[in-house]
Amino acid sequence: MPELPEVETTRRGLAPHLIGQRVVALDIRQPRLRWPIPRALCTQLPGQRIEGIERRAKYLLVHTEPGSALLHLGMSGSLRVLPGSTPAGLHDHVDWRLGSGQVLRFTDPRRFGSQLWQPRGETHELLAGLGPEPLSADFDGDLLWTRSRGRKAAVKLFLMDQAIVVGVGNIYASEALFAAGIHPKRAAGSVSRERYARLALEVKRILAHAIKRGGTTLRDFISPDGVPGYFEQELFVYGRAGEACKVCSAPIRASVIGQRSTFFCTHCQR
Ligand SMILES: [Zn+2]
Repeated sequence: MPELPEVETTRRGLAPHLIGQRVVALDIRQPRLRWPIPRALCTQLPGQRIEGIERRAKYLLVHTEPGSALLHLGMSGSLRVLPGSTPAGLHDHVDWRLGSGQVLRFTDPRRFGSQLWQPRGETHELLAGLGPEPLSADFDGDLLWTRSRGRKAAVKLFLMDQAIVVGVGNIYASEALFAAGIHPKRAAGSVSRERYARLALEVKRILAHAIKRGGTTLRDFISPDGVPGYFEQELFVYGRAGEACKVCSAPIRASVIGQRSTFFCTHCQR
């Protein structure tokens, strides 16, 4: 599943090909994505010039004068800019034909991705109620500490709650909690202010590093469990059950929290 770093890498890769281009037409071969492609996208987008491309959580917002296309990669989606003559394959569901002669092609074998429309001045319901971006100044240890008081839920679930902070997926939550020395099952409300300050810094460091690596290896292999190949050898706990902790040599444990596999070291994380 594409995580925040892959979506941000996609945004950076697409921006120079899209910004300033006019969307000449849409070729929709399969409108039934996670949600049906809305009529507003089909009527509003053609003819418009792309003013910018922004990421919010794991959504990409392609801005035009009357509104923004809201794109999500789902489980298996990808967006590529290709020569207009490139034949479409079975899973190439949507093409945006651009003034440059190229196409923005959306490919998604499992069709959990989406292409939606947000009129100018409105906030799509999928974006309403989201917490701050993890790499923004609005996200810090004080926010985690304040929002967690009285909460008995596991700190890992709290960190992955999109209303608290967006885009901290399973891999990055596991790794950040290890780096901060916090046990993933600890009650969110029992973590001190100092330890949340450390956790927020580790979330930022790990995500920024993944984006930086992704930016130079965009087309790298992604393994079936969604861990980008370039990142795999840098993981401390994720996917390493039974292997030796890289810090203390104790075996890494695996457990399920909120239906997601979680990996941790009982010696390094309290
Ligand atoms: Zn350890």
